[in-house]
Amino acid sequence: MSEIYTSSEPMDNLEVLCDVYGSRWPGTKEDVESANYMVERLKSYGIDNAHTEKFKIPGWKRGPATLEVTSPIKKEFDVISLPFSIGGDVESDLVFLDAGHVDIYEKRKDEIDGNVVMVTSARPLGMTRSLHRSEKFMRSILAGAKGWIFMNHYPAYGPPTGGISPVIPSLGIAYEDGAFISRLLKREGAVKVRIKTTDKNMVVDTHNVICDVEGKTVDDEYVLTGCHVDGHDISQGAVDPASGTVVVMEMARVLNMVKDKLKRRVRLMGFGAEETGLFGSYNYAAVHEKELDKCRFMLNLDAAGGASKKGVVYNDFPELEPLLEKWTGEMKAEMPHGQRVSPYSDHWPFFLKGVPTGSGGDPTAAATSTGRGYGHTRYDTLDKVDTTYLRLASANYSRYLFRVANCEDWPARRKTQEEISAFIEKMGYDETIKLSDKVKAYVRTWDDLHPDTDAWLNRKSDW
Ligand SMILES: [Zn+2]
Repeated sequence: MSEIYTSSEPMDNLEVLCDVYGSRWPGTKEDVESANYMVERLKSYGIDNAHTEKFKIPGWKRGPATLEVTSPIKKEFDVISLPFSIGGDVESDLVFLDAGHVDIYEKRKDEIDGNVVMVTSARPLGMTRSLHRSEKFMRSILAGAKGWIFMNHYPAYGPPTGGISPVIPSLGIAYEDGAFISRLLKREGAVKVRIKTTDKNMVVDTHNVICDVEGKTVDDEYVLTGCHVDGHDISQGAVDPASGTVVVMEMARVLNMVKDKLKRRVRLMGFGAEETGLFGSYNYAAVHEKELDKCRFMLNLDAAGGASKKGVVYNDFPELEPLLEKWTGEMKAEMPHGQRVSPYSDHWPFFLKGVPTGSGGDPTAAATSTGRGYGHTRYDTLDKVDTTYLRLASANYSRYLFRVANCEDWPARRKTQEEISAFIEKMGYDETIKLSDKVKAYVRTWDDLHPDTDAWLNRKSDW
């Protein structure tokens, strides 16, 4: 603990990851260089086995994008493409769906069909679950949308980003500009817009960074932790994810210093290409499938150096809470805990394979959260990160994982595929999978398929 609280290592690493390598967008030179930098740093801590694992993913290169209102007035707006948007040129009526409640797409299908949809990033009122951007996008496609605009619901954070599928030209727009257009629509009754995008979809290589703090290895069980390395291409991705990436590196550094007292191996990872579809963790869980039986616990530390990330949100493993309660009492550490499962970060591919999983977080703070704030905008920069939180996360999670690795009576076991399937159905996530199959089937009926859409539909299974 004294190492953590007297070191500037995480902030020093963060400055390199963010200011030197920028967004570390998958498939770019900075992506490769940041992975190599992490490996070199980890080796300098004495962890000689640090290495990268390469894999192929669908990549995407942003081009300039424009949005113009063409009627009843003429006006251009500052917009950005959403990752995986195809390049295209669409002019049609605009349909504004506010936060895009799950029922609205069917109800207003006649208006949406053949037109451009605008929807905000807000959580729709009157829904018990949140509605992810990708679901709003897919439901718009199924209703016949030919262009898609994602409006930030936060003022003063610019246009939001976030991956969609390569089907129609898709944009992010700032709250203020979206609000202007929606007022115009209300006043005039009809607004025509023109979207032009010039993006490219292609296959690229990216990497996972992997290192092991070996410990005594009393048996072949081990503990796994990690955070993704890639940020969104418009951003430094400083809080999400790099604050967590440097916490994982710091944990590797300090756990390696006490490895003589560590009974089992701790594997620490930087996942590649999370933002565009959890590719790094899916790839790892597939390639290392045989080793997962021996994995006691996977702790996902996505953005773990952000404010109030000090506890653990378990993914439907209630048997792990009493143990954490006992340990935090002994450690005199504050680590709030709870249960929740969301499919939108790197624990998910491990969860699907039945591995006991959890994420760094504070379930008491998450209950009041309304969205990402400056996350996924160009304002997620290094200056938002506070050394206090980097130290708190490094301290809490390294102490916790040390105890998980040393525990003689670890209560969690790997779930069966039947248990996982039943859980997914209960949560309604099978609906999302069916929705995506529906979108693919529907898009296949189009006779003017864009080449990028065609490649996406016929992509290889290892994507
Ligand atoms: Zn993240």
